[in-house]
Amino acid sequence: MKKIAIRKDFSYFYTDSEEVEAGSFDERLETLDEEIRALYKKYGVELAQGYTTFYGLEKYSICNCEACGHLMLNRDENPTGFIGNELAVEIEYVIYDGGAHEGKQLCEECLPFTHRWGHHS
Ligand SMILES: [Zn+2]
Repeated sequence: MKKIAIRKDFSYFYTDSEEVEAGSFDERLETLDEEIRALYKKYGVELAQGYTTFYGLEKYSICNCEACGHLMLNRDENPTGFIGNELAVEIEYVIYDGGAHEGKQLCEECLPFTHRWGHHS
């Protein structure tokens, strides 16, 4: 029986308004996409579709967990998270919930269970 496997990849990178407005950001991504497409083709995978969305780091209180480095959204500073954002379900794979604990920004996996935003709390 023939099947089709659809794969979803997530990636992220830091940029700023100056780079986006200057267009060098688009050039960098186009070059990356060409190389990724060629690499995928080498393994018989077709790159079907992709898109890029932007989120203000300060606006959403996004940072890297100080323990494991995973992207996180500090829910202590932004309790509503990505509410109202249609991509919120997708983003939760890329950006974990998190909060502050003993002076450190920690993701839900690294926070103690007893913390409001700790995993399984
Ligand atoms: Zn962590």
